[in-house]
Amino acid sequence: MLAAYRCYTLAMENRREKALERQIEKVKRDLAKLGDLRPGSLSTQYNVCGTPGCRCKASPPEKHGPYYQVSYTRKGKSSSKFVKKKDLPAIRKQLKNYERMKLLIDRWIELGTELSNLRLAKETI
Ligand SMILES: [Zn+2]
Repeated sequence: MLAAYRCYTLAMENRREKALERQIEKVKRDLAKLGDLRPGSLSTQYNVCGTPGCRCKASPPEKHGPYYQVSYTRKGKSSSKFVKKKDLPAIRKQLKNYERMKLLIDRWIELGTELSNLRLAKETI
C-alpha cells in the first residue's frame, strides 16, 4: 500500500516536473522574442522659459511643451532622458518590453524554484 502510494506520488511529481520544464522553456522562448527594452516611466512636462514677455508668462500662461521625459533608476542612481515626439511609439514599446521582461523573469524564478525543490526532494528518496 505504502509502495503503491509512493509510486503514485512519484508519477505525479514526474508529471509536474515535466510541466515545469515545459513552462520554463516557454518563458525562455518568450524572453528571446522580446525586442528592444528600456526601464523607466514616461512623463509629460510643460516649461516656463527666461524670455521676458513670452507667452509662457502671460495670464493665463501658455507654457512650452509638451516635453516627454523617461525617468529611470539604475544601480541606485536616478536619471532622466528627454524623448522626441517622433520616438514616442518606439519608447512606449521599449518600456512595455521591459515590464514584460520583468514579469517573465519573475515567472522563471517561481517555476525554477518549484522545479529545484521537486528535484532536491527526489534525490533524498
Ligand atoms: Zn516662454
